[in-house]
Amino acid sequence: MKNIAVIGAGTMGNGIAHTFAQFHFNVQLIDVSAAALEKGLATISKNLDRMVAKEKISIADKNQTLANITTFNSLKDGVKNADLVVEAATENAVLKAKIFKELDDYCPEKTILATNTSSISITQIAAVTKRPEKVIGMHFMNPVPIMKLVEIIRGYNTADDVMNSTVALAKIIGKTPVEVNDYPGFVANRILMPMINESIETLYNGVAGVQEIDTVMMLGMAHPMGPLQLADFIGLDVCLSILNVMYDGFKNPKYAPCPLLVNMVLAGKLGIKSGEGFYDYSKSRKAEKVAKMFS
Ligand code: NAD
Repeated sequence: MKNIAVIGAGTMGNGIAHTFAQFHFNVQLIDVSAAALEKGLATISKNLDRMVAKEKISIADKNQTLANITTFNSLKDGVKNADLVVEAATENAVLKAKIFKELDDYCPEKTILATNTSSISITQIAAVTKRPEKVIGMHFMNPVPIMKLVEIIRGYNTADDVMNSTVALAKIIGKTPVEVNDYPGFVANRILMPMINESIETLYNGVAGVQEIDTVMMLGMAHPMGPLQLADFIGLDVCLSILNVMYDGFKNPKYAPCPLLVNMVLAGKLGIKSGEGFYDYSKSRKAEKVAKMFS
């Protein structure tokens, strides 16, 4: 594999493009928004600068990584030579179905179609294509250049050779792939989201305050970040949407989102991205501090 098309230049897409480009792949970074492409490239450049400052890579490595990335507004042009596509567009099942139908039309027959979805069924996405055996989940963690884990999700029809090449590819780009099956939340979110939801429930029930809950989990369970702060970092809307997918998928009340989470999302308190969630990021430098913990 040499040509990797990445769809979406947002938080995850630019990190995925950065990582493949740093490991000498030709990356076609595609986004419908020219502004998102510009911002994505600027983020990659800034993150590479940080790696240069920490002497993890040289300036020549930085320049080569940037040179390995070409940007496209058009899906058709961007994917025509792709060996692998990693779709990291907005988390929306209808949008992903549309993108995968187009990918099936525009990509060569051999192309593996991967999605970075956090919660949508891989089998459901694969079903809109005529190549469900070549559709797979490649669930990177945020921030992609730093985090080692990639969940490799086998859809109902994913072929063994597609699974094996995707696992091998993840290793080539310095990641630790973990193979999982396609059920709601996969593994990471199936375990993480109930913990975050229970932390919110604990707050909602008045058992303890935000700082207290986070301190218990950080100092008592050696978590690097408290669950409420982590929820702010992930985005409360994202947490809500993943919980809803698990609630719908399993029909089990244990995944029902806490009413406080629902209310906060309705009120626009989405965490770091909106300036306020369980913590207030408008005046403090907490958002930067949280980001630094991961860099
Ligand atoms: P984001 O909102 O930061 O970026 C999404 C990008 O997709 C935007 O730039 C948007 O312009 C672009 N886009 C929308 N429609 C498009 C189309 N038709 N063609 C091309 N580009 C299109 O979102 P994100 O946080 O990067 O999430 C992307 C995916 O990664 C989602 O499926 C999400 O569930 C998953 N994910 C997110 C995280 C996280 O922590 N943010 C972690 C793991 C997985």
